[in-house]
Amino acid sequence: MNDVLAHRTRATPDATALIDAGSRQEWSYAELDAAVDRTAGHLVGLGIEPGDHLGCLLDTHPAAVRLLHAALRLGCVLVPLNTRLAPNELEDRIERADLAALICGADTEASAVGVSEVPVASVDATEHAAVTALADVETVEFEPATWSRDDPCLMLATSGTTGRPKLVVLTIGNLIASAVASAFRLGVLPGDRWLSPLSVYHMGGLAPIVRSALYGTAVVLVDDDGTGFDAARARHALVEYDCTGVSLVPTMLRRLLDAGDLPDSFRFVLLGGAPASTDLIERCARRTVPVHPTYGMTETASQVATARPETAFAHSGTVGQALVGTDLTVIDAAGERVDRGETGEFVVSGPTVFAGYYDDPDATAAAFSEHGFHTGDVGHRDAEGRLWVTGRLDERIVTGGENVDPEAVASALRAHPAVDSAAVVGLDDPEWGERVGALVVREKDLDAATLRTHCRERLAGFEIPRTIGFVDSLPRTASGTVERDAVREILRERGD
Ligand code: ATP
Ligand code: MG
Repeated sequence: MNDVLAHRTRATPDATALIDAGSRQEWSYAELDAAVDRTAGHLVGLGIEPGDHLGCLLDTHPAAVRLLHAALRLGCVLVPLNTRLAPNELEDRIERADLAALICGADTEASAVGVSEVPVASVDATEHAAVTALADVETVEFEPATWSRDDPCLMLATSGTTGRPKLVVLTIGNLIASAVASAFRLGVLPGDRWLSPLSVYHMGGLAPIVRSALYGTAVVLVDDDGTGFDAARARHALVEYDCTGVSLVPTMLRRLLDAGDLPDSFRFVLLGGAPASTDLIERCARRTVPVHPTYGMTETASQVATARPETAFAHSGTVGQALVGTDLTVIDAAGERVDRGETGEFVVSGPTVFAGYYDDPDATAAAFSEHGFHTGDVGHRDAEGRLWVTGRLDERIVTGGENVDPEAVASALRAHPAVDSAAVVGLDDPEWGERVGALVVREKDLDAATLRTHCRERLAGFEIPRTIGFVDSLPRTASGTVERDAVREILRERGD
């Protein structure tokens, strides 16, 4: 098959493909296609060949979209890298991914230089002698690649919530299957405009770009200009460009709702990456925000399950049923399937499940069984097949021989009106093996003793946090998940 963009351009060349809210520039599919051809020609001039791994160190920017499609046009594997990594982390990622070249921009040039031997080129005019401006490279003619479903096209690092990030290899078949299954849950309209404020180095940020090209709809980019999510800017872009959908993590949605009402043109808010609190879902219900809580991960090219708003409002906390084509099983510690209503690990199989961890056959083998891919996430399925995610396998706390589910404790804490959010972890304890620790973001005056009294009505004695700390915001990974190790560190220093 042709690359995704070539296929689309032939069908609807004049439809809007891409809008950059920052620069107010717009591209039709024909214009984007021509730009991608030019980028691909420069990349070939740089020495890039089919099958090469092409590193991309760019924030959410039109150049990242061009680079993604150019890599597909050339038959390369794009490796988007987190622009917020420390130099040693970036070096580690570049080394593990076997890059042929690293493409940066004006903002990321300084980070890209000197971290490795890999040649660096920039999509912008460059100030650094060691960096080539891609536009200055002589273009070389090339033959567009022909793709098969099982060909790897993307390599993405997981968020590293549970340890060293893993490099996930995704095929073009994974991306197409994910786009199809998502469309069957969210629907697609010809005039759809999908705002994507999420980083392009996470699946959640890449998905709207790939899907829009497959659907023939438009993607609208808002850059976070390196200072984090700007709710006012995102809201402005939503209104100005009549967006119909947006992908967000819960903290972003909370801030977007604080910034004002969403336009009536809105069809969906795809909300994922971390659990959404009941309070947030209720806020959406009150303001008729079409929230679609979703559960997914890098290894499944994003969505595994997604709830429609009516389901989310009636059953607050669920992430809905698995998408079509995705088989989900719940497995107990002995590897046996459990009945509906019972808790276990989610194991998934189907066409969105990744090809393996790059250059790591041991980790790949450990992640699969005859049931499919073991997500490491824990939860249950109710009688209607809706999924409820309650935590992660390796987060369970064992204190004095008792098992504690951190999410159950966090949820009890969040039930206190003065608690905005909470993260619960196990802390090493000489007497109990582990003790329960809680890091809390409070909205108004609240102390640890009051919170413990509140917990006593809802939790068993061994579940009540022995260590409680207060912070202004929880430490999160770039994709919005709570960083467990950082929580532990803060509690060790500041908990009481
Ligand atoms: P690592 O695999 O390196 O530990 P990670 O799992 O956080 O990092 P991602 O693939 O970015 O990396 O995140 C996917 C994970 O995020 C899921 O496995 C799940 O634990 C969590 N998650 C995603 N959506 C939800 C949700 N709606 N509710 C609860 N958890 C979610
Ligand atoms: Mg993971």
